[in-house]
Amino acid sequence: SKASGRNRYTFFALEMQLEVEKEQQVEKELKVAIADNQLCLYYQPLLNASTEALIGAEVLVRWPHPERGLIPPFDFIPIAEKTGLITKLDDWVLETATQQISMWVHQGIDAPVLSVNISANRLNQKDFAQFVQKVIAKYRIPPETLCIEITEQNMIANLDNVYSTLTLLQQLGVKIALDDFGTGYSSLSYLKRLPVDKLKIDRSFVMDMHEDPQDKAIIKTILELGHGLGLWVNAEGVENEIQIQMLKDLGVDEFQGFFFSRPLPLAEFEAKYLPATVL
Ligand code: C2E
Ligand code: CA
Ligand code: CA
Ligand code: CA
Repeated sequence: SKASGRNRYTFFALEMQLEVEKEQQVEKELKVAIADNQLCLYYQPLLNASTEALIGAEVLVRWPHPERGLIPPFDFIPIAEKTGLITKLDDWVLETATQQISMWVHQGIDAPVLSVNISANRLNQKDFAQFVQKVIAKYRIPPETLCIEITEQNMIANLDNVYSTLTLLQQLGVKIALDDFGTGYSSLSYLKRLPVDKLKIDRSFVMDMHEDPQDKAIIKTILELGHGLGLWVNAEGVENEIQIQMLKDLGVDEFQGFFFSRPLPLAEFEAKYLPATVL
């Protein structure tokens, strides 16, 4: 009926308004959180697949919220992307990770490579490579201890721009990883056109590979492709020993996943993975 139709309309309108208000609230609080250093970084180990020795860590942002507890990135990154706050967030993460590397170097620790996620919005801005260069110079870190993880999502917008940015970064010595590989629809053309050092096989393929021969076939193909191009290949989302054995047999270079470790707060990561050095 007309009445219930209108009620439904009112209901959806209300719901949408609540959604908008919630987003505006998150945006407001996130702005403060970034400015006041309230975000924090977790570190998930990246291990050499044949020795299981630590190579590096992926840096993953968390938001310890005074009322809502530790907020995972999926609950605020999309809002940050929508509102443009992602530029400040990504820059903060990159600078904080760089500062951490320089602290390890000063402590005489053999610094693990830190992989930082950079969203397509930030990557597409013209000053990004310059910003990275500035931060590396400020903290005087070896550039190859920094890896930039990019995804193919939304990159189509300005591939020429991304190409020159990545080329500059690679010339600096910074490593480039193509994240969530295999999930986009243009993986191959990106691979052909962009300077990349590492492929990260998307978790969705690793998840079911021990039960689904198609996922296994896809992983095998990604490995052949990656190795054929001289790239290092990571498998993320490794959760059990069957996956590990299969991935080893297929020749994966690097493991990442809950089986080895969840993302850890700094102190736990250091205690578990960075042997104390005597200065
Ligand atoms: P991602 O870049 O694909 O990061 C890997 C995600 O997989 C992380 O989730 C990690 O905790 C999770 N993961 C790792 N191993 C396993 C496993 O064995 N099983 C399962 N089920 N999950 C595993 P997280 O930390 O919640 O991050 C989610 C996404 O948020 C990231 O996906 C990335 O796209 C984004 N993100 C995280 N930190 C940042 C950041 O600093 N900047 C930007 N722009 N995005 C970020
Ligand atoms: Ca990533
Ligand atoms: Ca990923
Ligand atoms: Ca992702």
